[in-house]
Amino acid sequence: MEYLYTSENLKRILKPSENPKLELSGCRICSNLPESVSKVNHPSRSEFGSFPDEVTKLEEFILIKYSWQILKCPICNMLYTDEYHCDSVAGGSEDVYLISRIDHDDALEMLKGIKAKKLLKDGARWLVTW
Ligand SMILES: [Zn+2]
Repeated sequence: MEYLYTSENLKRILKPSENPKLELSGCRICSNLPESVSKVNHPSRSEFGSFPDEVTKLEEFILIKYSWQILKCPICNMLYTDEYHCDSVAGGSEDVYLISRIDHDDALEMLKGIKAKKLLKDGARWLVTW
């Protein structure tokens, strides 16, 4: 399925499901995740950070670019941004991964700021294309 990249379609995709809204504290994934959590890898020093286990339970929701995407909690539909960037540091580089909780309105604003053309449904996730 393919949709035009309009705010109406974005709103429809982001709309929380009909399930009764679950409080954050009642979600066994989200209640164990902080507001934002990061992981830093230093490949040149063979040092690798790790995320709490709950991060791996979040599902890919909207894939924007390979450097960032939006994840969704499969239990309560809470959204998270998943960003990646690479910094040059003395003696090599470090890869920084950052997961941050965002509400649906923030997600909509962020997505509206992207000059994309289409939204493609790929299984359970959405791909943004230009
Ligand atoms: Zn949750």
